[in-house]
Amino acid sequence: MSDTAPILMWFRRDLRLTDHPALTEAAATGRPVIPVFIHDEVVEDYGPAPRWRLGEGVRSFAERLESIGSRLILRRGRACNVLEGLVEETGATAVWWTRAYDPPSVERDEAVKSSLTGRDVDAASRPGHLLFEPWTVETKQGEFYKVYTPYMRSVKNREVADPETAPSELAAPETWPDSDDLDDWGMGAAMDRGAEIVAPHAYIGEDAAQTRLATFMRDLIEDYAQARDYPGVEGTSGLSENLTYGEISPRTCWHAGLRARDAGKAGAETFLQELIWREFSYHLLHHTPRLMTGNWREKWDAFPWNEDERLTEVKAWKQGRTGIRFVDAAMREMYVTGRMHNRSRMVVASYLTKHLMCHWKIGMHWFEEHLIDWDPANNSMGWQWSAGSGPDATPFFRVFNPITQVDKFKADGYIRNWIAEGQDDPPEDALDYFRAIPRRWSMSPDDDYPEPVVSHEDGRQRALDAYQAREF
Ligand code: FAD
Repeated sequence: MSDTAPILMWFRRDLRLTDHPALTEAAATGRPVIPVFIHDEVVEDYGPAPRWRLGEGVRSFAERLESIGSRLILRRGRACNVLEGLVEETGATAVWWTRAYDPPSVERDEAVKSSLTGRDVDAASRPGHLLFEPWTVETKQGEFYKVYTPYMRSVKNREVADPETAPSELAAPETWPDSDDLDDWGMGAAMDRGAEIVAPHAYIGEDAAQTRLATFMRDLIEDYAQARDYPGVEGTSGLSENLTYGEISPRTCWHAGLRARDAGKAGAETFLQELIWREFSYHLLHHTPRLMTGNWREKWDAFPWNEDERLTEVKAWKQGRTGIRFVDAAMREMYVTGRMHNRSRMVVASYLTKHLMCHWKIGMHWFEEHLIDWDPANNSMGWQWSAGSGPDATPFFRVFNPITQVDKFKADGYIRNWIAEGQDDPPEDALDYFRAIPRRWSMSPDDDYPEPVVSHEDGRQRALDAYQAREF
């Protein structure tokens, strides 16, 4: 195998130059590196908001590569076919990528690896998306962890290598292969009226992610442990959209957290623990891929979840008009910003799965379509945790009260910011919701605010009765 032949660097959800182990290794060989992004079978299945956000991430990353004299080659098609074609075209003898852990990506990557290896191509994955490879963490009995706290204790003092610096240049091939034009892919097309409404709320690309981390560490980390619970306060890092597309590495965030802890910042320990929640999601997804598709605790298969998306209650939940203000504010926040505060995610998930007794998969899929920080592991774990069907989940009989949570988490201002009905001079955010939604929803800021589709008391009682009837 010639050691001057190009390396194809296949980028997926790792759109960064800094702390990218596979790229660092490729750059160090001195061989030509051809960066490639493929709109492949996995991307074809993304929901509208993740697909739009990914497209913007790709645009930003292509510019970043150009700033060091390289390029991002764009191709569309089945990953296997595209890579086989590019190997032929370029004479590359290696295809490297950063490992992914969600079942559709794993299936794709296994097919790619076996096809390329069969053609004598060095097809190899490297870590970079996680701090701890899921199979390296196990209990004393040699099993995977099913409960967060012991998992967290077992990893929190592990040595995590320092982040690697970005390569200052990448050797270019003699001739560049052709590339598609990103705009021809129409990655925002399915966003309906929404892309220009969501765009101002997104922090796209590696520079934006690094700035966000620095700002968080400077201004917010001290109070993070308390402030993170209040949806009306900007108290969290906001890094989930960057972590999910790999615009920043978890190691970079982890080391920033360690430095803050060494500097005595009160919230640093909590921040590190939240990063470990992300690791825990991937640990679970790796060991039990059904986390994304079915009840993790199979006894929940017998629970009378409602699975009919056409139900009035489901529509009301999706459209932010359940008549429960905290729930509606949160659903509208997601529609406008592509994000939702963690407290709000728990409140809307609890209301859907308990008060409305609808299957968590309905909510998981709606989030999958509308979140710009959609993450296959965090989203499925978050839903199963909220519904009670997941590992280490909140018990089903603990039903959040979406009325008292408003006071408890000082959500009054948050609600005013997102619900226009009944206000003489509603804020722009609240009005943006009506600019973003499809006209067929027939909603107007001048409407009367609806009565609850299911009140807290009725919904809670119905959920508990169903739960007790099955003696879970
Ligand atoms: P910060 O509070 O600043 O935390 C830092 C990082 O730690 C986050 O960026 C994230 O990577 C990780 N983290 C924080 N909280 C959690 C958590 N509970 N579980 C796993 N990792 C966590 N997170 C996603 O990234 N994508 C999703 O699709 C997603 N869906 C969710 C669905 C439900 C029903 C629930 C209850 C939670 C979901 N979460 C999801 C987890 C959490 O709400 C978000 O990670 C968090 O709100 C992101 O905001 P932040 O970046 O400011 O977080």
